[in-house]
Amino acid sequence: MQLDLGSDPRTDVLRQLQAGLIARFGRIVRPLDKRRSPEWVLVHGVIGAQTKTAASNASTDGLLGEFGSWNAVAAVAVEEIEQRLQRQTFPSVAAKRLSDCLNAIIAQRGTVDLRHLSNLDLEQAMAWLESLPGVARKNSAGVMNASTFNRKAMVIDGHHRRIMQRMGIVPAKADTAKTYDTLMPIVPEEWSAADMDEHHLLLKKLGQTHCRPRAPQCDACPARGNCDTGRHAERP
Ligand code: SF4
Repeated sequence: MQLDLGSDPRTDVLRQLQAGLIARFGRIVRPLDKRRSPEWVLVHGVIGAQTKTAASNASTDGLLGEFGSWNAVAAVAVEEIEQRLQRQTFPSVAAKRLSDCLNAIIAQRGTVDLRHLSNLDLEQAMAWLESLPGVARKNSAGVMNASTFNRKAMVIDGHHRRIMQRMGIVPAKADTAKTYDTLMPIVPEEWSAADMDEHHLLLKKLGQTHCRPRAPQCDACPARGNCDTGRHAERP
């Protein structure tokens, strides 16, 4: 993807949004020494559909703690994995996806190890991840950005996508991949991978507090000045 950095007015909107969110919520920084391995982040995403982060954290840690390696988890029957994923919203789906994904990596690489991705450019690495069963754009970007890889990929969940749509930064019906493709070329040039991670975490916070799926609370929202929806919302 050719980045045309700095020339789109939405780039400044993202800068202003970030400053406003930090002013409202404070810094939300994921320390480098607290980052998980790329394999852990991948598993967390594959089993995490419609499930709270804390539950998926516990399930992912539980599997690795019990079996000792992702290769060992890949060798376990799907039904046994399912028994360990009862915290997940869809345990049977999560177990099947995880088994298929881990075994697909082993079929290609001989072992569950993603280190080869650090030798690929970002688009190639994400395309490789998205060729695996159960891996879509949110998870591939998470592996690149929120793991020890710490690379410049924007993670987009439902909160992030909804806010970008309501603000008019991405098209109203953009899916996750379209949102990613729209945002990546307009991300401020000076933002590091950690800034992009913090941006995502701040937007998640905004989505949980003000820009909720139903009845957004625009009157008190720190993004209102830059938001197409907020500007047209009725003032109290
Ligand atoms: S102003 Fe309203 S629609 Fe816009 S981001 Fe804030 S809560 Fe969401």
